[in-house]
Amino acid sequence: MVYVPLQVTPPGRSPNARGEFRLTYGDTLPYRGEKCEIKASRLGRTAWADGVFYIRPGLAPEEIRKACMGIYRTQAKEVLGQKVKAFAEKMGVRPAKVECRGNEERWGSCDGLGQINYSWRLMACPEDIIDYVVVHELSHLKEFNHADSFWALVEQFIPFAREKHRQLEITRRALRECNFI
Ligand SMILES: [Zn+2]
Repeated sequence: MVYVPLQVTPPGRSPNARGEFRLTYGDTLPYRGEKCEIKASRLGRTAWADGVFYIRPGLAPEEIRKACMGIYRTQAKEVLGQKVKAFAEKMGVRPAKVECRGNEERWGSCDGLGQINYSWRLMACPEDIIDYVVVHELSHLKEFNHADSFWALVEQFIPFAREKHRQLEITRRALRECNFI
């Protein structure tokens, strides 16, 4: 249960009157700790590949935003799915259900039924922060609290977990620099 609102802005660009940012081709978005450029796909495909967000050419800013969000969601399902599987195995836990959403301003959550939710926005974070949030929520399957025993469990799998927890706030601020999510 990590609460962090996300807002991102591209460097050198400014918000419009509504405080929103207008994405365009050539802008970069954060993806797993890297800055990845948005490019028009000559094949008209929408996908992330080799550090690039490929989207259809000729889209308006809001369509670009939607296309990129779609890519984040697709990637989140795949990447978070793999990470959850690997860590759950290591930790000896089994979530009842895992979903990737992103409608709320939370990185992740775990309820009393063992259902875990991760935000697709996590894909904008550096790899070690993604891992930390994955393990944080999986740890709630054993420790439904934030007591010392909870942190001890998290730190078995993520060294310096408390430090990474603090880094989430820094990440949040960094993400503000490049808009959109
Ligand atoms: Zn928590």
